Amino acid sequence: MEILATPTEARAWRHAVRGDVGFVPTMGYLHQGHLALVRRALSENAATAVSIFVNPAQFGPGEDFERYPRDEERDLRLLRECGVDAVYLPTPAVIYPPGYQTYVTVEQVTRMLEGAARPGHFRGVATVVLKLLNTIEPQRAYFGRKDAQQLRVIRRMARDLDLACEIVPCDIVREPDGLAMSSRNVYLTPPEREAAPVIHRALRAAMDQFSAGERDASTLKRAVETIIAGQHLGETEYISLADDDTLEELDGLVQREAVLSIVVRFGATRLLDNIELTPEPARFGQVAD
Ligand code: AMP
Repeated sequence: MEILATPTEARAWRHAVRGDVGFVPTMGYLHQGHLALVRRALSENAATAVSIFVNPAQFGPGEDFERYPRDEERDLRLLRECGVDAVYLPTPAVIYPPGYQTYVTVEQVTRMLEGAARPGHFRGVATVVLKLLNTIEPQRAYFGRKDAQQLRVIRRMARDLDLACEIVPCDIVREPDGLAMSSRNVYLTPPEREAAPVIHRALRAAMDQFSAGERDASTLKRAVETIIAGQHLGETEYISLADDDTLEELDGLVQREAVLSIVVRFGATRLLDNIELTPEPARFGQVAD
C-alpha cells in the first residue's frame, strides 16, 4: 500500500494505475461504515485510494477540530488489511499552503440543516473534496448516505462543475442496536451511548407510519419528535422532511422521494441520522443505487 503525502506524489501514483480508480475521502478514525465504502470501491475499480484528512476548513470556531479522534496507525492497518492500493495523507499545510484563497461555494442546497447549523461547513467540504478529486482523478468517488446533505452538496457540485467523476452513494452502516456508525460516537458517555439508538428507533417509527400510508409531513415529523422526547439525555436540534434532491422542506403531503433527517444533541455531541422515504414501493429487481 502506497502512502502519498503531496498532490505530486498522488498524481504520480494515479498516472501509473492502469484502469479505473475508485476513491474514498475520509477524516480517518475508521469504522465499518468507512470500510463498507472502501470495499465497494475495491470491488468496482482496478485500484482504490483512500484519503485521511481532518479538514480544518470544515470546522467552525469552537467546534471539535483539535479533539477530533485520530489513530493513523490503526487506520493504515485496517486499510492495508482491506487491500487498499494507496492512502493519501496530506497535512493542512499541503492542502492550504500560505497564500491559499480559493473556495467552492455550492449555493441553495447548503443553506439549510447542517449548513444553517454550521456556517461555512460545506464551503470547507466542497473545497477539499474538489481538491482531492482534482488530485486523484478517480472514475468513481464513494460517499455515505449517513451524511445526507454532504452527499447532495457533492452531487450538486459534480453536476454544476462538469466533474468527470461518478459520485456513488453508499448505504448507512449501523451498530447492531441501530446507532449509525460515526467517528464521533466515541465522545458519548456510557449512558449517552445506551440512549443513542433512540434516534434510529424514532426514524424507523416514522418510516413504519409512512409504509402504512401516512403522507402528512408534520405527522411524520411529530412521530419522530415524540419518541426522542421520551428519553431525557438527547435533545432534538432539528427534524427535517425534505425533497430528496434539493433538500427544500416539504410541507403538506409527501408525494415524491424525500429524506427524513435529524440531529440529536447528547451533551456537546451532535449525532446525525436520516432515512429515505420513497412513495412508490420499489419494484422487484430494482437496484437501490
Ligand atoms: P468522515 O470520515 O466522517 O468524513 O466520513 C467519510 C465518509 O464515510 C463520508 O462519505 C461519510 O458519509 C461516510 N460514512 C461515515 N459514517 C458512515 C456510516 N455509518 N455508514 C456509511 N457511510 C458512512
